[in-house]
Amino acid sequence: MFTAFFYTYNKHVRNDVDMKVKPYHSMFKREREEIRMTIDALDFYYVAHPLKEPWTTAYGSDDTIHSVLTCMTSGSVTAWSESSPLYAPTYSPECAISVFEVASRFLAPMVLHQSFESAEAINQAIEPIKGNPFAHAAIEMAWWVLQSAMTQKPLHVCLGGTSQPVAAGADFGVQSSIDRLIERIDSAFQAGFQRVKLKVKKGWDLEMLRAVRSTFPNGVFHIDCNSGYSLEKDWPFFKAIDPLGLAMIEQPLYHADVIDHAELQRRMQTPICLDESINSVYMAEKAIDLKACRFINIKPGRVGGLYNTLIINKLCMSAGVGNWIGGMLESAVGAGICIECATLPNMTYPNDLFPSDNYYEEELSKERIELSAPGQMLPSQRFGNPFIPDPDVLKKRTIRQVHCE
Ligand SMILES: [Mg+2]
Repeated sequence: MFTAFFYTYNKHVRNDVDMKVKPYHSMFKREREEIRMTIDALDFYYVAHPLKEPWTTAYGSDDTIHSVLTCMTSGSVTAWSESSPLYAPTYSPECAISVFEVASRFLAPMVLHQSFESAEAINQAIEPIKGNPFAHAAIEMAWWVLQSAMTQKPLHVCLGGTSQPVAAGADFGVQSSIDRLIERIDSAFQAGFQRVKLKVKKGWDLEMLRAVRSTFPNGVFHIDCNSGYSLEKDWPFFKAIDPLGLAMIEQPLYHADVIDHAELQRRMQTPICLDESINSVYMAEKAIDLKACRFINIKPGRVGGLYNTLIINKLCMSAGVGNWIGGMLESAVGAGICIECATLPNMTYPNDLFPSDNYYEEELSKERIELSAPGQMLPSQRFGNPFIPDPDVLKKRTIRQVHCE
């Protein structure tokens, strides 16, 4: 039974975490027919998708987004997902080629020619492969899309979300000048985006932030440090930005840390949001236990897929930690899944969801991601993933491809 997976999850967690999850069991007690769907084939496409302009953060600059698209086939039904860890292991220890290899070489044989009756079951099947959450997610998210297609329910319904519009926020990488940044922020607020996220790195931080705050005294801003700072050495910086009224500081410290983040959160009024550090349910539990953050942004790829997304979402809601959906500049194939996730409860801050036009001249899918109203997007009422690759564009963007059956 689909509803069983949260119960079984509890068998595997520590008693104190178990206590936190229990009150939320009732939220998953909904009827669902069992769908038998054998995974007949998996096709993996390593794609390189050029951006309109380079995306610069504390870890470097990307002019092309490298992703792995997965097509899961069951009978005559196909389901597409996208896992987008970037070209090099700069955001996290994974990269597109590692996802392509791990998913096709190790994970695909663990699920092919099998039918999984629950999200928990497919996650258990691939559990022996340690870490590599983006690779797990490549397959696991395709399974959810297949469920949506075969049960004829929109993906957000399968996930337990709603059909309500979700809030989209603007996001700016490091720019060529502060004047240029301020121009772009002004355009974003005028277009109705509800908050602005600013990437910072050493040399593009305090001066820029003070200029932005004095220009937009009432704007909702947060910064993303992408692990570029350290607790003691950079304490003067954090102390200086604490009075600026930022909505949060995203992943200021080491990419795998929760201990120093807990100390930083203890010292600061501004909420800490963890991103890179939360790559599993286990790390979410530790961050919550240590009070290392007041927000966790959930990227389905980074946490290993949609099953873990749901568990982390519930753990956070139980602990009073806010969520929002983060992004990896996926094409519409992946971004469409992120919009569905943003309909979950406890999404207390606008999400990293962007119209295709923001970053791409040419989308991978025929349909583009668009705003439904200023600063808003709507989940799809269609079944499966409505954003499927255009065959011609996919062919043009594919660097490597493998068919597994
Ligand atoms: Mg981030």
